[in-house]
Amino acid sequence: MRRPHRRIETQLTVVGTGIAGFAAALFARARGLDVAQVGHSGALAYTTGYLDLLGVADGRKIADPWAGLDALRMTEPGHPFGRLANADIRAALDAFIGEVNAMGLGYTPAGAANLTALLPYGVTKPTLSLPETMWPGAAALAERAPALIVDFAGLQGFSAAEFAANMAAVWPGLATARLAFPGMESLQVFPEPMARALETRETRAAFVARLRPHLGAVTHVGLPAILGVHRPDTVRAALEAELGVTLFEIPTIPPGVPGIRLRELFERHLPGRGVALEPNLKAAEARLDPSGITLALHGPMEDLDIRAEAVVLATGRFLSGGLRAERSGIRETLFGLPVAQPDGREAWFRPAYFDPRGHPVNRLGLTVDDRFRPLDAAGAPVHPRLHAAGAVLAGQDWARSRSGAGLAIASAWAAVNAAGAELGSSPGDPGPTTAPGAAPAQEPGTA
Ligand SMILES: Cc1cc2nc3c(=O)[nH]c(=O)nc-3n(C[C@H](O)[C@H](O)[C@H](O)COP(=O)(O)OP(=O)(O)OC[C@H]3O[C@@H](n4cnc5c(N)ncnc54)[C@H](O)[C@@H]3O)c2cc1C
Repeated sequence: MRRPHRRIETQLTVVGTGIAGFAAALFARARGLDVAQVGHSGALAYTTGYLDLLGVADGRKIADPWAGLDALRMTEPGHPFGRLANADIRAALDAFIGEVNAMGLGYTPAGAANLTALLPYGVTKPTLSLPETMWPGAAALAERAPALIVDFAGLQGFSAAEFAANMAAVWPGLATARLAFPGMESLQVFPEPMARALETRETRAAFVARLRPHLGAVTHVGLPAILGVHRPDTVRAALEAELGVTLFEIPTIPPGVPGIRLRELFERHLPGRGVALEPNLKAAEARLDPSGITLALHGPMEDLDIRAEAVVLATGRFLSGGLRAERSGIRETLFGLPVAQPDGREAWFRPAYFDPRGHPVNRLGLTVDDRFRPLDAAGAPVHPRLHAAGAVLAGQDWARSRSGAGLAIASAWAAVNAAGAELGSSPGDPGPTTAPGAAPAQEPGTA
């Protein structure tokens, strides 16, 4: 029997469902473009949830990412941030955070300075915007507030005692407690089912009863990131009302709930905003021709062709499958785009694993022009309307510089603006986007 075959025609197709891909789809809808988006799981599930812009330069934490970007443009002119003005980067972050907040997931605005955010194991990192559920932890650290850190029997990779011990020099006197999570008193527990369970009133009531005896005189309680998947701000408020303390989340080791929250948020809301979203389907083949780009996708039940006038490629690096390392070199997996790279694999890594300069392989990727179009070996755009954004770009090491989400969002902004200008759309209202006549996305209730 012949498999069903479907065809979609769009102005812009976004390939990738990481932060860069979702940002690109939102920005494109804000410009009024007709948008399709395809992708699968990837690095998004691993994020802490923090939106970094530039946290580290020359191996040192920096307080002012905006001044850091000015300096980066001087020291690393080939960095993708070098193709963007600070005003555009700010506009991109403001638009993205505005959209996420409008969809019901609280994030703090991108400010003038980095914040000091908490990590599991009791260390900190500089970042620019935090989920509202995590922001009180940064504030409590700044005030050295009397706090209790809670972990759970059977939860791997998050120890309250270790957190308190490593924090002792900067945040002395942290109290700790270990609880059995209600309904999961088994050997091993995982953050995602715990978070989903806390969306029910019954689990919250049982949890409050177990936590209350440990509160003593603390004003704050820090928990691993388990305060619900769909409405974490509501879950936190409900628990705070019962407990009479300020709660904050600390990211867990990956994969963690904050990335799942973002992914599920976009999956719920983007179709209502007019994006033809295929969140569990990778593009298998791509064909370029002078008038556009055709993608072929093979789902479990049907084949799908997407014909696009323009494409934003946001497929990430090795973890998400945008790049692949082979014996003969590193290649871009969908279009076979040129990846500027040294002659041999010996040059991918420096001899010392902990070399403070990092490893060259982490900077390999797609070289782009000012319109974020991948370039061929001769330095010309591979296609006039093929753009790239996010971690797949060359000349940056987002993990080392703590710039993952910021780079993804800002480059998506630039790529979409360039594609939109080529397609004749004007910059839209950077406020929240809605498809004409679309019903608001149904929020799963918090019982
Ligand atoms: C462990 C870890 C911790 C992190 N912590 C932070 C943090 O604290 N702060 C921060 O700002 N950032 C953090 N990040 C980075 C962040 O999650 C993103 O990796 C980064 O922002 C880059 O996003 P991206 O969208 O470019 O790529 P990715 O997130 O890698 O997404 C790429 C997408 O492309 C899809 N894809 C690949 N090939 C195809 C194809 N052929 N067809 C369709 N789709 C395809 C993948 O399925 C995936 O959805 C962290 C990442 C990791 C791995």
